[in-house]
Amino acid sequence: MISVDEAKKIIIENVSPLVPIEVYFEDARDFCLAEDVRSDIDMPPFNRSAMDGYAVIAEDTKTAPVVLKIIENIAAGDMPAKKVSQGCVSKIMTGASVPEGADAVVRFEDTDDTGTEDRVKILKSVKTGANISNRGEDMQIGQIVLHAGMQIRPQEIGILATVGKSVVRVYPAPAVGIISTGNELVNVDEKPSPVQIRNSNSYSLAAQARRMNAGVEILGIAGDRKEDIVEIMTRGLQKDVLILSGGVSMGEYDLVGDVLKEAGVRIYFEKVALRPGKPVIFGKKDKTLIFALPGNPVASLVTFELFIYPAIRKLMGFSSLCRTTVAALLETDISTKRRRREFRPARCQWKENTWSVSPVEWHGSADLLAMTKANCLLIIPEETEKLSKGQFVDIILLDNLC
Ligand code: AMP
Ligand code: MG
Repeated sequence: MISVDEAKKIIIENVSPLVPIEVYFEDARDFCLAEDVRSDIDMPPFNRSAMDGYAVIAEDTKTAPVVLKIIENIAAGDMPAKKVSQGCVSKIMTGASVPEGADAVVRFEDTDDTGTEDRVKILKSVKTGANISNRGEDMQIGQIVLHAGMQIRPQEIGILATVGKSVVRVYPAPAVGIISTGNELVNVDEKPSPVQIRNSNSYSLAAQARRMNAGVEILGIAGDRKEDIVEIMTRGLQKDVLILSGGVSMGEYDLVGDVLKEAGVRIYFEKVALRPGKPVIFGKKDKTLIFALPGNPVASLVTFELFIYPAIRKLMGFSSLCRTTVAALLETDISTKRRRREFRPARCQWKENTWSVSPVEWHGSADLLAMTKANCLLIIPEETEKLSKGQFVDIILLDNLC
């Protein structure tokens, strides 16, 4: 049986980014940039006033308080018409172009009325360059402002707008198909008989993939018969990623592994030393990545985060592939006898300058309700029998926490 780290490594080695596509820049949010983007302008494009005030010759303010003559009123978007010469100023607004001759801006707050419209009293002296942003100080024409491989966040969207890059190359999100297997499963809108349960995994897995922007098709429920699984799987093999849930354990009706092999899927591993989620299959057929996860809902959720999350990140061109792991202070003792690496549903909180964590009450890999109280997975390393209150442990953050 391979370790969690080995399993992740095998997956990452066998996944390549999808072929980039062009999208309208507003639709590029959260995707990975597939090209370098250059600026077609200097930013700022002209010497720009950073304040509402008066464009002055700094030297003229040395003897402040001093009364100077107002020769022009320049709003943002106006082209200055007059050169500022000794003893003169132009009234100027934030974002307006600083007129020729002026080398500083005095803020309105540092001036006073003189009672006459064409004169202003400067109360404080300013240094050359004060309150002026120089042309090209933020970025220059031709400069690479965004690099291939960057995740496009709101600030990158803003830069794309700034440089007029309205169509941009990004790595696409994969098409994901999801199949749940099990004779006992019924649809959400059905009332289960005393020996049935509703299919929840298709929906939690779909939600996990969709929050990574993947396009998801829920392909349905296959009974525990080879023909049933083969039939639905044929449709699933058209996708970039096919996820199957259930039917991968040692039971008599756990047929997924056999069906995959008979369909010509190359299997890379079938078991990983972890809890929950030991039986987990990763395979490939042509371009399709295939993950067969255990049916227990927590195991399915955890194995998605551990194995499918990095695979989708890699398909989408990202270089940081795994969810964030941080150290947290353990708030209770934990004992375990497992030799496999364990991932416990837990709740963390930022307290007194550090993350603190406690496991949530949990009855095992079927107890999905426990996951609704968790926001992270607490890692219990292999061969660990006891973790003590007050020690640091690693936790995997599952949500955007604040
Ligand atoms: P299996 O991996 O098929 O042996 O299933 C393990 C457990 O998970 C069984 O109790 C199943 O009923 C349950 N299970 C399997 N598939 C699903 C599903 N799609 N939604 C909810 N529970 C499931
Ligand atoms: Mg089953």
